[in-house]
Amino acid sequence: GIDSLSDLKKLSVLGRGNGGTVYKVSHKQTGSVYALKVLRFGEDDAAATREAEILQRVDSEYIVRCFGVFNGEFPEVDGGGGGGGLCFVMEYMDYGSLHDVLRKKKRLPEHVISCIVRSVLKGLEYLHGIQVVHRDIKPSNLLVNLRGHVKIADFGVSWVVNSGGDHTRCTCTDGSCMGTCAYMSPERLDPERWDGGRCDGFVGDVWSLGVVAMECYVGRFPLIGPGQKPDWVTLMCAICFGENVESVVKMASPEFESFCQRCLERDWRKRRTVEELLSHPFVTNSEINGVEDLVSYIASSN
Ligand code: ATP
Ligand code: MG
Repeated sequence: GIDSLSDLKKLSVLGRGNGGTVYKVSHKQTGSVYALKVLRFGEDDAAATREAEILQRVDSEYIVRCFGVFNGEFPEVDGGGGGGGLCFVMEYMDYGSLHDVLRKKKRLPEHVISCIVRSVLKGLEYLHGIQVVHRDIKPSNLLVNLRGHVKIADFGVSWVVNSGGDHTRCTCTDGSCMGTCAYMSPERLDPERWDGGRCDGFVGDVWSLGVVAMECYVGRFPLIGPGQKPDWVTLMCAICFGENVESVVKMASPEFESFCQRCLERDWRKRRTVEELLSHPFVTNSEINGVEDLVSYIASSN
């Protein structure tokens, strides 16, 4: 095991987000490689603590593993010193995020999307089963490894059902949250649709997954046109009143179109649940050789 942060050597920076910085590190004694996420104290300590609690509690092959949480200072942090933070030692996902995959491959074929979607649904099934709503499903939070595993990461804005707090609202209207709000469901953006608290939020993750699936297929953020500026109003209108799924995923198989439609049902009461979607034909199609398909696709050069 890892006893202390000083056992870790920084190799590179994997990502920088609102929450903190993620480093690729190696364990000095064993040479094993990990991802280390450092959340600086004083940013949003309550969110950091919640993320730690959830990461330490989850145990699923569809969620990124966390091997330890340290409250201290990573000596090799950029710029050195400076207060320290909460540090998560996580399994290193060596193919990066789905965001990186899409940058490299532009668009993905349906059989690969099916495999990705199935893994994410399995991860969500697990999370929802322990009363956790992820709330930030998007390409940069879905990590991939060379063995063809797709795992959910980043519990920075997740919500534990009935744990109190206001989980309905999207509080950000500035540019910094655009990346996240883009994947939010209509009921999260528009309080009128929340139905006086009757919505528990689980199907919000389903909406986000539907947006991700369409993005994989069309190769760009699917809810607004390629020429449209993704400002707050445009985005909000597109999510709450925009075009229909079939006009976006033209030429798709009927199974894929139907899957996207089930996810992107604007009325959360009519939207399918994770459990229901796990038996959707688009998803069950990949059950036979899903992981192998993804591995060989990743291995292919373009
Ligand atoms: P954001 O605010 O952008 O959502 P964040 O600060 O909450 O980011 P994460 O989403 O956990 O941080 O990680 C940021 C990026 O770092 C990811 O998109 C991914 O590219 C990379 N990353 C995170 N964890 C890992 C990991 N375990 N293995 C490989 N890369 C990772
Ligand atoms: Mg993230």
